[in-house]
Amino acid sequence: MTTAQEVTTLSHFIGGEMTAGKSGRYGLVYNPTTGEVIAKVPLASVEETRVAIAKAQTVFPKWRDTSVAKRTEIVLKFRNLITENMDELLQIICRESGKTVEDAKGEITRGLESVDLAIGAPHLVKGEYSVDVGGQINAYSAKYPLGVVAAISPFNFPIMVPLAQTSMAIAVGNAVVLKASERVPMTSLYVSELWKKAGLPDGIWTVVNGDKDAVNEILENPSVQAISFVGSTPVAKYIYETGSKYGKRVTALGGGKNNMVVMPDADLEQVANAFIGAAYGAASQRCMAISTIMPVGQDTADRLVGILKDKISALKVGSYTEPDTDFGPVISQQSKDAVLAAIDRGESEGATVVCDGRDLDIVKESKGFFVGPTLLDNVKPGMEIYEQEVFGPARNIVRVDSLDEAIELINQHELGNGVTIFTNDGFAARQFTTQIDVGMVGVNVPIPIPVGYHNFAGFKGSRFGEGHMFGPDQARFFTKTKTVSERWMTSNASTSSTFAFPSNND
Ligand code: NAD
Repeated sequence: MTTAQEVTTLSHFIGGEMTAGKSGRYGLVYNPTTGEVIAKVPLASVEETRVAIAKAQTVFPKWRDTSVAKRTEIVLKFRNLITENMDELLQIICRESGKTVEDAKGEITRGLESVDLAIGAPHLVKGEYSVDVGGQINAYSAKYPLGVVAAISPFNFPIMVPLAQTSMAIAVGNAVVLKASERVPMTSLYVSELWKKAGLPDGIWTVVNGDKDAVNEILENPSVQAISFVGSTPVAKYIYETGSKYGKRVTALGGGKNNMVVMPDADLEQVANAFIGAAYGAASQRCMAISTIMPVGQDTADRLVGILKDKISALKVGSYTEPDTDFGPVISQQSKDAVLAAIDRGESEGATVVCDGRDLDIVKESKGFFVGPTLLDNVKPGMEIYEQEVFGPARNIVRVDSLDEAIELINQHELGNGVTIFTNDGFAARQFTTQIDVGMVGVNVPIPIPVGYHNFAGFKGSRFGEGHMFGPDQARFFTKTKTVSERWMTSNASTSSTFAFPSNND
């Protein structure tokens, strides 16, 4: 057991310094693998958040006026520091999130794609210029940073999501305030040290740790110009509605309930392997995890169940410190209880339990927050396990009779983050990609997460607002376009007043 003395008290990162919390309120950070408390995280008060935002606002103009070449040079140094400190980062991420080392490496690699895109910011903020649009008038439009912008991040990607939310914002000249997830705050605090080492001016990168109080101040503070939120759907909706009410630009990405449609012609061995990784990886705590596999036709379903049952039963659930672990715990005891309860309810609503993750020794005996891989068959729309996002390794089979039925069901669902189809039939794939109402679509790809230089966002309840995370849209989201018309005339040029609306016919 960890003793009380070993529990670290964390800080905020404000004005370029680790800053102790003053509110007197703390959250507990767990090692989900052991169930031990490893740190206390300060929960910022409204006043502390206000002070942090004010510091960011003070230093913003200098950063705005720094050349984009200089800014991106610092982002490049930051990128190199991430790779140089990979082992330390992996250790922190695995310890506070419970994910496996391989999974954490994948997360860092995908996060670096966003940093790479930000290094290319000069290309993405180029403006447009027109000469002689009127008498001696030239016009140009140029992208300017917004000012102080905020990111609010979820627990399940301690580094990838914050990097995706903030790298471009910094590169294009904003001051960023990150409200990191209070469940995995240590990664963002470590990242703060790397920004400082890279030479980022104090105050351009701020981490405010906290909960609703900090978030509500971010939503209401007039200095905050834009908010990038990633988290669950109810909170995303709240952030979008409240932030918009206070006049901010908001993109709020929510949860997912992602389907894998399996056509009868697909190679079921390949499908099963793809499903297992995409469904159970990271203990299913990914917004793009496959929740439901939808075989088309009873024969496809029966064959698939047989293959899946054997493969899922062989999965190893355990600690990130053991190299052959397939996936680790969920983030908290509360989360574990919620997943186990969702399985119970699914069974009582009529689903058939094919693989039962409630029965593993590690689930019953470990103090870590483990849930074994669970697969429920004969799940139907209307059952809670089908309708709600379950953020843990309880997955479903929904049997359908046709591709049309699969598309209709998926399109009716409240969430529309990711979806994929496995087939060798190009016509089926084309019908699917054309008719499906989901933001990120795969064809024979288990998790269709776009690479960092493509835009990322779902549809429907998976995204509120028009912006994207990842991709070139970040440069648009974190800048405002100003259009300038200018004329330089010789001092003796003849002029007269004109009262007609300018028509630029001269
Ligand atoms: P969450 O919504 O509980 O928390 C996200 C952030 O919001 C945290 O920083 C948290 O402190 C804050 N927050 C929580 N409740 C709040 C409230 N009532 N008022 C103000 N702020 C609040 O999400 P989570 O559990 O940390 O993350 C998992 C969720 O995030 C899942 O639903 C997952 O699908 C989603 N997610 C979505 C994407 C995506 O790209 N669409 C990516 C990753 C995670």
